[in-house]
Amino acid sequence: MMHMKTMNLTGVMRDRTLDGMKQYLLASDFDQTLSFNDSGHVLSEILGVGSFAEKVAGLARINLVQQGGELAYLILHDPELRQVRREHLQEAGRRIRLKRNIPLLCRLLEDGIADHHFSFHVVSAAPEEVIQSALEGIVPPDHIHGTRFHYNPDSGEVEAILRVVAGYGKVAVLDDLQSRLGVAPDRVVYMGDGSSDVHVMLHVNRREGYSIAVSEAPHIAQIARRTVLSDDALSVLVPVLEDIAGWRRTAIRALFESHGLHIHEWDRTRTDWVTIREPGPPSA
Ligand SMILES: [Mg+2]
Repeated sequence: MMHMKTMNLTGVMRDRTLDGMKQYLLASDFDQTLSFNDSGHVLSEILGVGSFAEKVAGLARINLVQQGGELAYLILHDPELRQVRREHLQEAGRRIRLKRNIPLLCRLLEDGIADHHFSFHVVSAAPEEVIQSALEGIVPPDHIHGTRFHYNPDSGEVEAILRVVAGYGKVAVLDDLQSRLGVAPDRVVYMGDGSSDVHVMLHVNRREGYSIAVSEAPHIAQIARRTVLSDDALSVLVPVLEDIAGWRRTAIRALFESHGLHIHEWDRTRTDWVTIREPGPPSA
C-alpha cells in the first residue's frame, strides 16, 4: 500500500512539474503577420531598388521559386539586389513596423494561459537577420527560423543560400521543431497571412493541428480554421482561447482587461475583426 501511495504521490508531483501544462507549439509567419511591411520592400527601399515589386511578380509568373522565396533568389541572382550585405538586412529589420503587443503576446504564451503553455517560434521566408533585428529583445534568436545565407568572408557578398523557409520549406522547419520540442501534431498551431503559408497550413490541418489566417488573401482564409484581422498581434489569442482552451468570450475580454487592454470591436462574421485599444491620455 505504501508503495502505491508513493507511486501516486510521484504521479502528482510529475503532473505538476512536467505535465501540469498542456504543451503547444505556436509557429508564426513574420512579414505581414507580425509586421505591416514586407521585408523585401523595406530592403529595396534601403538599396534604392525601385522595381522590386515587378521583379517579384516576374519570378512568381514563371514559378521558378516557391512563393515567398523570391527575395532570397533575387539577392543571389539579381544584379541590383546582389549589393545586399548583412548590415542592410539588419537595418531593414530596424525599419520594419511591427504589429502592437508582440512582447505581451510572447510573455503570455511562454508563461502559459490556464494550463496551456505555448512555445512561440517565428517561421518565415524573410532573411533571418531581418527578423532577428526586428524582434530583438522580444523573441530569442533561437526561436527565429528564417532564410539563411552564406556570406563571402572577404567581400561580405551573399555567396549561397543555405535554406529558404518558404512553401514546403516551412513544413520542414515546423516538423523539425515539433519533434525537437516533443509536441504532438494536434498541439501545433500555425498563423500566417499569405500564399507562402499554404503548404504549411494544409500540413498542420491534415495532422489535426490548428491554423489561423491573419489576412483575407485568396487561398489562405479558406484553408485556415479561423481568420482574425487586427493591427494588434494579441488578437491571435481570440481564436486560440476560444477553440483550443475552450474559453467563453467574457473570459477572453477579462484576460485582455487584466492587461489594461479593451477589446473595442469584435465582429464575428466568417472573420473576426478585432480592434484593441490601450487607455492613453485623453486626446486633445
Ligand atoms: Mg507573410
